[in-house]
Amino acid sequence: MSDSFSAMKKNRGTSKLSEKLASISGSNTNSYQDERIWKPTPDKSGNYSGIIRFLPAPRGEDSPFIKVFNHGFQKNGKWFIENCPTSLGQDCPVCEANSELWNSGIESDKKIASQRKRKTSYYANIIVINDPANPENNGRNFLYRFGTKIMEKIEAVAAGDPTLGEDGIDVQDFWDGANLVLKMRKGDGGYTTYQDSQFQAVSQLFDGDEDQLKALWESLHSLQEYHDPTKFLGYDELKTKFDKFVFGRSSNSAPSRDNDSEEDTKSSGSSQPNFNPHKSAPESTEEAPFKESKSSDSGEGGGDESPLAKFKALTRNS
Ligand SMILES: [Zn+2]
Repeated sequence: MSDSFSAMKKNRGTSKLSEKLASISGSNTNSYQDERIWKPTPDKSGNYSGIIRFLPAPRGEDSPFIKVFNHGFQKNGKWFIENCPTSLGQDCPVCEANSELWNSGIESDKKIASQRKRKTSYYANIIVINDPANPENNGRNFLYRFGTKIMEKIEAVAAGDPTLGEDGIDVQDFWDGANLVLKMRKGDGGYTTYQDSQFQAVSQLFDGDEDQLKALWESLHSLQEYHDPTKFLGYDELKTKFDKFVFGRSSNSAPSRDNDSEEDTKSSGSSQPNFNPHKSAPESTEEAPFKESKSSDSGEGGGDESPLAKFKALTRNS
């Protein structure tokens, strides 16, 4: 990590984004309305186009992205939304219950498991380059929450294409990064997709003006706060809450499983539940966990093990 701007600039080439991605693990944060978070504002048809740029790791932190898992599902019209402790590398009673369901092999149980599986979100600092729906955001730094589809694009660009002799691009780099044309589209099933989003050619932010870059860098928001342990229930507390939500009582007693008992397993590659930011109105991340759902296109379904799996998930050492 870098504590001074000059050190940040000097060191930026020493560890590439694809390595950084390996060190992201997850975390979640509570979902209140956070003014620091930018969201695309879709038009009446549910579509959005704009340009943003990912920014480097904030001062004193290692990664430009942080990964967070959470559980959010409905039962009887109510929402259960909690951060998943696996974000911090800890055991999760909801994931455990899910695995049991999934492994039962019973289709109805597997379906429930799919609905309750943990969802993946990422947070990053961005600067809004062009937000046609809200031009007052242009030039401002925000946090941005996004899902696996956008992360897949970041990874693909970071990896480059060796067979074509194309170098990878660390999109968040001030000098050698790239803007993202963010396109949110509402598909046939009502699902939101980010598939059409694309990184532009390499460019310097602020034309490389060091004073502006330094000022921006020094004002970036912390990402590690999304791994703050106070934002996660402890194992027992989470289990109690979950059991109560699912079984209507606090655990231990043999669950008469009403068709609604468990969560899903990390291995379920199923699609994602329908997430509506009700209850605690998570920063609805498009593409991501909360809002989007079953979109086969969203890529969120297999979120956990998708391409990120190849980057071994280290725990962030902050
Ligand atoms: Zn979990």
